[in-house]
Amino acid sequence: MIVMKFGGTSVESAEAIERVSEIVRSRMKQSPLVVVSAMAKVTDQLVAMGNTASTGDSGEALLSVKALRERHHQTAQALLGEKRAAALAPKLQAHFIDLENFVRGLAAVRELTPRGSDYLLSFGELLSSLIVADAFIVRGVKAAWVDSRECLVTDATHTRARPLMEDTREKSKKKIGPLLAKKRTPVMGGFIAASREGIPTTLGRGSSDYSAAILGAALNADKIEIWTDVEGMMTTDPRLCSGARTIKQISFNEAAELAYFGAKVLHPLTLLPAIQQNIPVYVLNSRNLKSTGTEITAQSPPSRDVFRAITAKKGVSIVNVVASRGVGVHGFLRSVFEAMDRHAASVDLVAISEVSMSFTIESKRLAEALIKDLAQVADVNVDNHQAVICLVGEDIHGKPGIAASVFNTVAEAQVNIRMISQGASEINISFVVKEDDVPRVVRHLHDHFFSAPAKKKAGVRVNGTGRVRRRPANGRPSLRRAAAAAI
Ligand code: ASP
Ligand code: MG
Repeated sequence: MIVMKFGGTSVESAEAIERVSEIVRSRMKQSPLVVVSAMAKVTDQLVAMGNTASTGDSGEALLSVKALRERHHQTAQALLGEKRAAALAPKLQAHFIDLENFVRGLAAVRELTPRGSDYLLSFGELLSSLIVADAFIVRGVKAAWVDSRECLVTDATHTRARPLMEDTREKSKKKIGPLLAKKRTPVMGGFIAASREGIPTTLGRGSSDYSAAILGAALNADKIEIWTDVEGMMTTDPRLCSGARTIKQISFNEAAELAYFGAKVLHPLTLLPAIQQNIPVYVLNSRNLKSTGTEITAQSPPSRDVFRAITAKKGVSIVNVVASRGVGVHGFLRSVFEAMDRHAASVDLVAISEVSMSFTIESKRLAEALIKDLAQVADVNVDNHQAVICLVGEDIHGKPGIAASVFNTVAEAQVNIRMISQGASEINISFVVKEDDVPRVVRHLHDHFFSAPAKKKAGVRVNGTGRVRRRPANGRPSLRRAAAAAI
């Protein structure tokens, strides 16, 4: 069996759901299980509704319920025709009544708890999945709506619950197994689950991908398809460089690295349950039925290119911290890291010398209070409007000449580098430039590393097939590290 997940934009309208039906029909032989997000923007609207209602303003919140009701009913009508839409209407209506009651209650108590928030947000996926299941049936796919809350079991950490895999495996096999055996296509909402006690939970914003990975792992899927509105992961941002192209294959570690440095397609950590079981994941474009997208696998796939991708993360600040005289190295570093910890600063690149340290951080997350704290132990200055450029690729491991080739290219582009970082895992080379230099430097690097064969460009040894030699796929420290981290 396979798991097919469709995000919010893939089910945003009747036309979009039509396309989804077509795509699913083309996969019938592979026994798909379909996971859908809420229709685009619905979860945000539910969040906003919760916020206004908990200030005591039920009027405005009830108006948003009305707008949601109209959108869902209209979509159902457009997809199902009068008769079938009328048959589905009472089911949708029951949810809207629950939602209205909840909003009124919220306005009365003026408090939205994490548990209440999970209940509120669960409506988006419940509604979209009901409509999609019926749309499939009308189009000849024998769909069966399944309540995710009866399959995915989580702890009770509301708003970011974590799956209990054994329970989930048992429950989803029991619920979904018989349907697949009868050649039915289960359709369920992503993102939502329930605790052991049956209380609704959610896996965190944007986590329908996570649901797909959990279900894929629980049911031993042959593959997982994540359908979105772009053509997979790209070698770089196409807005920066017209030569950007889809990455055919990428390893989990590389994809995770890209996500940290600005690629927004999906968060690979959410795919970990599947990757750990060696289930390949594909990122595909639901606007293109023939999409081949990007394949994400546990092992580093062979590639002709030296790097897998180049990312640019703008809106970054460099913070330069120089120890005040008389402070020892040891004490200096400790106080800097302690200050970062106190302010939960999420730092990207760090460069350290005996008496100074520079780090980069997203400008919008650089708290004034952190600077003040640092100023107690050091001289601090901040440079805004910087960008982190990151080149990712596991094939660079153990190959001389790659960094030289990167920095030569940057020099050819006449761009000045402010900071440099390459960890010993040798999966990426990152450096900082001025924000204004981003388009120029990315174009130069992309032309250099992606346009011509790898052989000539980076001075990398290639084997007889013209492919860059791969290192053996053992010793995968960052996969292990990622596995250890609770996601
Ligand atoms: N609908 C949820 C959200 O917007 C989950 C998802 O789309 O992945 O966060
Ligand atoms: Mg999403």
